[in-house]
Amino acid sequence: MLNEYLSSKPLNELNTEMLTFTANLEMVARGNPQIAKSILQELIDQRSHLKLIASENYCSLSTQSAMGNLLTDKYAEGFVGNRFYAGCDNVDNIEAIACDEAKRLFGAEHAYVQPHSGADANLVAFLAVLRKKFHTTENILNLPKDEWEKIRKDMGNQRLLGMGLYSGGHLTHGYRHNVSAQLFEVFNYDVNENTGLLEYDNLRNMLQEVKPLIFLIGFSAYTRNIDYSLLRQYADEVGAVMVVDMAHFAGLVAGGAISGKYNPIPYADIVTTTTHKTLRGPRGGMVLCKQEYAEFVDKGCPHVLGGPLPHVMAAKAIAFKEANSPEYKAYAAKVVENSTHLAATLVTKGIHVQTGGTDNHIVLVNVEKLGITGRQAELALRECGLTLNRNTLPGDKYGPWYTSGLRFGTPATTSLGMGKPEMEEIADIIATTLKSITANLDKNGNKSKAKYTLAENAKETAIKRVHSLLDKYVLYPEIDVEFLQKNLK
Ligand SMILES: *Cc1c(COP(=O)(O)O)cnc(C)c1O
Repeated sequence: MLNEYLSSKPLNELNTEMLTFTANLEMVARGNPQIAKSILQELIDQRSHLKLIASENYCSLSTQSAMGNLLTDKYAEGFVGNRFYAGCDNVDNIEAIACDEAKRLFGAEHAYVQPHSGADANLVAFLAVLRKKFHTTENILNLPKDEWEKIRKDMGNQRLLGMGLYSGGHLTHGYRHNVSAQLFEVFNYDVNENTGLLEYDNLRNMLQEVKPLIFLIGFSAYTRNIDYSLLRQYADEVGAVMVVDMAHFAGLVAGGAISGKYNPIPYADIVTTTTHKTLRGPRGGMVLCKQEYAEFVDKGCPHVLGGPLPHVMAAKAIAFKEANSPEYKAYAAKVVENSTHLAATLVTKGIHVQTGGTDNHIVLVNVEKLGITGRQAELALRECGLTLNRNTLPGDKYGPWYTSGLRFGTPATTSLGMGKPEMEEIADIIATTLKSITANLDKNGNKSKAKYTLAENAKETAIKRVHSLLDKYVLYPEIDVEFLQKNLK
């Protein structure tokens, strides 16, 4: 395949992106051709569907290259300068660069770039808070068993106050099936079911009542800015440690689209995040914190995590540097401009948008008002070429499997270069498709929550419109997919 590409045009017309991708795919195919086929098919699928999943993005090919190499072979338990393995000089360099880039990008006092995912970053943060409070200065390994048991019980008796799942919180914020709910006694706060908004007085009251060790703020499905300056005051009133999980909106903070009192970094004790959502880096996590938590956070490996992923830390260093640029700043602003416009256009087309709009990259829509479930809407839209996910809404009567809502996001389409006119077109495709769905009836005349029928021609028309958008905004345009399809054996 590589040879075919090299001989397909004059040397000066070959491009690095296509060359790299082709060489890489050929190496993968040597190892297992079926995997190479799936990688290529994923590119084809992503190119032919509009990606509106709020938690996904497209990272750069440089970021991807950093992930696919020998760095994966290296064990480097510990952290920079404190490893449990020999020969970690280069990993030390890479991790130190990634930490520096992260600190510069976010203006954070300390950065820990090892977490393999956002969920891991939260566990690292939780244990850091517990250890700072309970493992005082003495060496716990030398404690008599009964003293250690007492500490362990006290640690297991701590309270966490986090956002409820139906209100937009994450599973790791105390959902009962999640380890977070087994580590802590969990209390949840929720949004107002009518307005969909968090209420600061309610948060303050709950803090006063619960007096949690950890006050956890952050969301996967909430569309409004949160005043972290005010919440800091409320946390201080009860001596709670303030942890903010900015997994979703980290990129908007990095790019300055979320700033001032809405930027959690200056206010929170610890901030956790993913690196692959709005931030547009490799799949992974990170913890940022105040200096007083640094020594506890840095013990993430081995206290919570296994060996770090040096190849992913390398990719993080690249993505953070990319995010520290005027182009990225413009990108972040455009993500919000696009989602605001998408929401506003949906409203004009009679679609019910939660909270009436958005301040970030997420748009939440209530489809129950159209007589269908989120499940039906998600499946129908995917058939029509739009990829997104169904989402529970506050007080959801359909529950987490069928749901009443849909979650849209603009990070990926904005990465492709789309702007306001394209958001109008997308909103119209969404609204038209949603209105063309009818829930099937079972033999007793009850509405199905999963089966549906699309109006005649709705699918064909939508797909045509989606493709004409995607033809103008091609994912990784340097990569010649047809050539690869023809030559991948
Ligand atoms: C996505 C998300 C996570 C988890 O990230 P993973 O990398 O999937 O583990 C954690 N918290 C919030 C708020 C998220 O949105």
